[in-house]
Amino acid sequence: MEVCQSVRLRQRLESLARAGVLQLPRLRPTGVSFPGAATGDPASREAGADHDRRRGLELLQAEVAACTACQELTATRTQTVFGAGSPAARLVFLGEAPGADEDASGQPFVGAAGQLLTKIIEACTLRREEVYILNVLKCRPPGNRTPQSDEVGNCRKFFERQLEIIRPEFICCLGTTAAQALLQTGESIGKLRGRWFTHADAMVICTYHPSYLLRTPAAKRDVWDDMKRLMDRMGVALEPGR
Ligand code: SF4
Repeated sequence: MEVCQSVRLRQRLESLARAGVLQLPRLRPTGVSFPGAATGDPASREAGADHDRRRGLELLQAEVAACTACQELTATRTQTVFGAGSPAARLVFLGEAPGADEDASGQPFVGAAGQLLTKIIEACTLRREEVYILNVLKCRPPGNRTPQSDEVGNCRKFFERQLEIIRPEFICCLGTTAAQALLQTGESIGKLRGRWFTHADAMVICTYHPSYLLRTPAAKRDVWDDMKRLMDRMGVALEPGR
């Protein structure tokens, strides 16, 4: 019986491929804890999945807030900065670590670099609330120094679990630390740009960090090229002339 089903499935996929369908939409696991999840109604199932993702992130956020794995960061942080946005986001932006403004507010990307990221998101015809924004580290490194490899190693479980809960279709790594941490590579951001990678079910693209753009405005053109490539793959139409 299983052999018959797998043959039929293969024939069906080959037939779709001949018709030009090369990708199938991914179904998100719905979980079962939300009351509507068991009804079979698609809207109820999606609401149940959203509820489960939100709850999963809340539990993880509490775990992060209690984390003391990095001695120096624990001693100097005001608070942890977990992440923000839609738990059902198709697109996740992964940055490096909180800065002073983020450490003070508890929210990611709220300083000057964050405001620039908001402009980039809006130029893509998206809203901040419909993407999800997080960092590799949840605690601010003193003086905004680059995260150390042991700190990235300590915090990896948290950003990986956030991504497992959200299950985005696309991840955009902002800067070297995020790209190297997610892809577990030593390659520079300059070499990683312009290529597609995968992480679990997500397609990954890498671009410069907004704080680099504040220091090097000429690189904005490169970032916009990366965003256009990303929006094209996501099927998001940009304004004509962009
Ligand atoms: Fe824990 Fe991450 Fe903060 Fe280190 S950076 S103390 S692993 S939450």
